[in-house]
Amino acid sequence: MADLVVSAKEGLLCVPGDFYIDPWLPVERAVITHAHADHARAGHAHYLTAAPGAAVLKSRLGEISLEALPYGKKIVHNGVTISLHPAGHVLGSAQVRLEWHGEVWVVSGDYKLDPDGTCAPFEPVVCDAFITESTFGLPIYRWEAQQKIFDDIRHWWRRNAEEGRASVLFCYAFGKAQRLLNGIDSVVGPIICHGAVSELNRIYRESGVWLPPTLSVSDVSNKGDFSKALIIAPPAAAGSPWLRRFADYSDGFASGWMLLRGARRRRAVDRGFVLSDHADWPGLMRAIKATGATRVIVTHGHVDIMVRWLREIGLDASGFSTEYGTDEDDNVAMNEAVAFKESHA
Ligand SMILES: [Zn+2]
Ligand SMILES: [Zn+2]
Repeated sequence: MADLVVSAKEGLLCVPGDFYIDPWLPVERAVITHAHADHARAGHAHYLTAAPGAAVLKSRLGEISLEALPYGKKIVHNGVTISLHPAGHVLGSAQVRLEWHGEVWVVSGDYKLDPDGTCAPFEPVVCDAFITESTFGLPIYRWEAQQKIFDDIRHWWRRNAEEGRASVLFCYAFGKAQRLLNGIDSVVGPIICHGAVSELNRIYRESGVWLPPTLSVSDVSNKGDFSKALIIAPPAAAGSPWLRRFADYSDGFASGWMLLRGARRRRAVDRGFVLSDHADWPGLMRAIKATGATRVIVTHGHVDIMVRWLREIGLDASGFSTEYGTDEDDNVAMNEAVAFKESHA
């Protein structure tokens, strides 16, 4: 049987269904796994996404023709049965299950296995072929328990407050920020969020996700005592003028990339916290195994290395080249922040 999904110039194409999954060029019909910018692009005629992700997608793309499908509900398009299943990555993130003439393919999107309080937990979906991401697809990537990371952050915040300085925590605005807020779960002082983070907090709260009380940066005056405050901002905000009001502060950065302790990175912030919304190496392996798939196609990340490894354990593995980024995407923003710090040193 011909492949159910191929990599076309517009994106991953479901051939008999004549629709795309997370396409990077404008198409007629797009199934969107989640609203991170590299997966959810503007310009498609029709969008289909998991219902819990609809509000975020709209807030990012404006008025679009959007069908919101509850997790697990099946619809048929051109003879292909489509259903969406939780990917545990960010609010509304989904794996796409496609069934055609008895054959089942699953496109993972981005995923994480450890459940957190901000989105539906990852659900393994049995299939014949699994198309998996590999953002952290190297054996060196192994995450510590998230509770330990939340504890470390709380500690750092309390310590800074005791020493009379604000704590500025950089993280990706969509997903990571809310996961941190939900997980830190205690209040040493006021929590102040960058506008981009506040907007997503609003959507998460409206979706029923608990977050501690937060202030938006526009709500606080330039003068004040911020010595006990925790400020949550995307990495792109590093070095921007509004941070100056917090005077003397300690900064930290929460990202899976913090595992790479390059000298430049270490200099960039006072503290690195290794926390990713993607599966680590053991998580990727566990997820692949749980699908029971004999065929695995690896996308964005460490494609060649993972393909080689999967072949060694007897799977029919290959890669697709895609135009997805490494969304938490810090790499770019972080380099800008480092450059800023160096130029002001
Ligand atoms: Zn993502
Ligand atoms: Zn991705």
